[in-house]
Amino acid sequence: MPRKLAAGNWKMNGMAASLAEIDALVKAHPSPACEVLICPPATLIAQMAWKVGKNPIALGGQDCHSEASGAHTGDISAPMLADAGASYVIVGHSERRADHRETDVDVAAKARAAHAAGLTAVICVGETEAQRDAGETLAIIGAQLAGSLPESATPANSVVAYEPVWAIGTGRTPTLEQIGEVHGFLRAELAKRFEGTAADMRLLYGGSVKPSNAAEIFAVADVDGALVGGASLKADDFGPIVAAL
Ligand code: PGA
Repeated sequence: MPRKLAAGNWKMNGMAASLAEIDALVKAHPSPACEVLICPPATLIAQMAWKVGKNPIALGGQDCHSEASGAHTGDISAPMLADAGASYVIVGHSERRADHRETDVDVAAKARAAHAAGLTAVICVGETEAQRDAGETLAIIGAQLAGSLPESATPANSVVAYEPVWAIGTGRTPTLEQIGEVHGFLRAELAKRFEGTAADMRLLYGGSVKPSNAAEIFAVADVDGALVGGASLKADDFGPIVAAL
């Protein structure tokens, strides 16, 4: 069984003063049982790497370009993230898919670039509320998974995050049965490709995870951790989620 992963996605939040949350998290949880990952805005990665020091907290970007360098104003490449101290990068978050019209092909190219730079890609999939209501959840997620996982993906260099779009930032979560259904489906799909080692790829649930629901979600089969947005910003919220894994 792979080590569970508590991943925090700070999104477009966090200033230099927010680095104090790292001190608070380390103080409260100096040696967590699970792996802890924080994906701050790119502006904070290098400073955060200094702050983390030798403490067991991994850092990640929230997106990367599909090319290693070049004339792409405003973009950040996977090698740059690695250079700043990141070992992970989130790709294909639904906010990127919506705000920047990223397709599965784009996401796969970004994940491929992440792998080439030695980063672990956290590849996000998830249905909208309309798709769930139409009974299309598994079909959508199956297509996103097939399209977004590049040929370079392995259970060691990739993590899949299931994030229902309607559960992100809304305080609403699927039932435990619904989470279990999707995670079981993802594992079965991965087993077709990674014969014998699919259980080694971590499957995260994301969408309104908080201290009060973390333990019950983590008890669902095939949930190997969480991708946490709002509740990752403060050590007082993220700490108990880390402790629940
Ligand atoms: P949330 O966001 O925890 O604030 O719902 C999760 C995410 O988008 O990764």
